[in-house]
Amino acid sequence: MTPVLPDEPLPRRGPPDPRLVWRALGTVADPELPAVSIVELGIVRGVECTADECIVTLTPTYSGCPATRVIEADARAAVASVTDRRVRMLTALAPAWRSDWIAPEARRKLAACGIAPPRPGGAGPAITMTPDRSAIRCPHCGSRRTEEVARFGSTACKAQHRCRDCLEPFDYFKPH
Ligand SMILES: [Zn+2]
Repeated sequence: MTPVLPDEPLPRRGPPDPRLVWRALGTVADPELPAVSIVELGIVRGVECTADECIVTLTPTYSGCPATRVIEADARAAVASVTDRRVRMLTALAPAWRSDWIAPEARRKLAACGIAPPRPGGAGPAITMTPDRSAIRCPHCGSRRTEEVARFGSTACKAQHRCRDCLEPFDYFKPH
């Protein structure tokens, strides 16, 4: 696949081009995590293009997440900006989204805006059942002496934590 240059004009007519569809989807942010795109979060699981339509498969990070509908609508609009053919959005709930699908770059961006990204591999049932909350690293100072303040932070997908060293509050993006 040849990468599409950022200054390359986007055609709005004609059959969907997967490269352009991926690029368009790369501009769609999760409304709860505006710093990162749904592609970086691993929410976009597949893009299938035929002459007549584009089928995009999404796996929401959290099945009860109210942002899911917003994401789907935004993703649909983004794809419609690069093709005039039919756009179909599919939701795949199995396999369930895993936090280790988040791209390394996206983890850095989450940390940069004060959100502790989920630990890689932190989504497995073994870890979810016995969460080691104290090991979550503070995105501000890097300390591991952090505590959970509220199970739900600014949104249901995030828990509110506080650092015992720098005393800064932060959101922890919960692995599901
Ligand atoms: Zn800290």
